[in-house]
Amino acid sequence: MYRSLLHSLKWSVFVISLCCLSHTVIAAEPESDDDFLFHDSHFHLTNYVQEGPSLSEFLKLMDGKVGRSMVCGIPLQQQWMYANTGDFAPTYYTQTDAPLYYYSFTDAIIAHEYLRLSPEERKRFDPMITGFNPTDMYAADHIRRVLMTFPGVFSGIGEFSIHKEFVSSKISGEVATLENKALDRILEFAAEVGLPVVLHCDVDTPFPRPDQDPYIVVKLKELADRHPETTIIWAHIGLGRVVRPVKDQLAMAERGLRERESKNIHFDISWDETAKYLVGKPEAIKATADLINRFPTRFLFGTDCVGPKTQDQYLEVYEMYQPLLAELTPESRHLLLKGNYERIFDQARRRVRAWEAKNVRRETTPPRD
Ligand SMILES: [Zn+2]
Repeated sequence: MYRSLLHSLKWSVFVISLCCLSHTVIAAEPESDDDFLFHDSHFHLTNYVQEGPSLSEFLKLMDGKVGRSMVCGIPLQQQWMYANTGDFAPTYYTQTDAPLYYYSFTDAIIAHEYLRLSPEERKRFDPMITGFNPTDMYAADHIRRVLMTFPGVFSGIGEFSIHKEFVSSKISGEVATLENKALDRILEFAAEVGLPVVLHCDVDTPFPRPDQDPYIVVKLKELADRHPETTIIWAHIGLGRVVRPVKDQLAMAERGLRERESKNIHFDISWDETAKYLVGKPEAIKATADLINRFPTRFLFGTDCVGPKTQDQYLEVYEMYQPLLAELTPESRHLLLKGNYERIFDQARRRVRAWEAKNVRRETTPPRD
């Protein structure tokens, strides 16, 4: 079943080698905070029905283990369609045939939670805007509006999805694509403000034919080419529950990325579904560790945990990755777990606050009774 595990790793090596041709490794900062195991570059406070812990409760799950966390909701709401599941209330998209729809209020939930924290507690979070429809030319306007409504809160955009197994086809309305002008507007605005973008885009369709070249790699390359000033974090390196690279993808990836110099692309290894490929076999662990050791500034660790209830549950993905972490150099491990997060999100905070200082109109009249 996992005949392509090695292919997947070879593919990753291929893609990243090709896209990092001009890459230079930046010397790692020394460990600045040994009290924490990692910063979480991919975390959802809410699930597909917008439920989850408060940020205060989440802080307790982080305590003593996790320093900082990016925090986003889920941009999609799973409809509870009585005609489809009756009294059964689905909380995940695989539990019903009913559609998903974009749920912008998720950004307000995240801002509300953040603003309830003390200034000291807020320093540990990087809230993200995610409640927009990436097929809508107005999506960038939503992002702008969220920044204007909640200045001082958000650090980036995402995770939002373009191609996602089992999800894309369930969303009401126009299907998202990498060529949509609405997505270009989003990435242009992200570059203007300095918002890093966490993008979920499966590297291929779930069950491709063996002789079928994946069109997604080419289009993703073109997208990144069109937006060299936008920091893109490719969630899960494009892997998924069943989406995994197959042999033919190697050749396709090579053709698509041969002259790639996309320093703006980073890779997060979040999600237990990603971990199952990367630490599934000793050869996989070695190949992945070699890759990260060669390009340590390009990878981020994240849990992709969704509305966790216990610390054990929250740390599950970190525990899964122990065999991989053991194979990394101290420098690479530091960058993967903390250093790259700090570099990307510290810069984002500075740039977004500067943009807000220039663009957010100060309220001059007090609210009416
Ligand atoms: Zn996610």
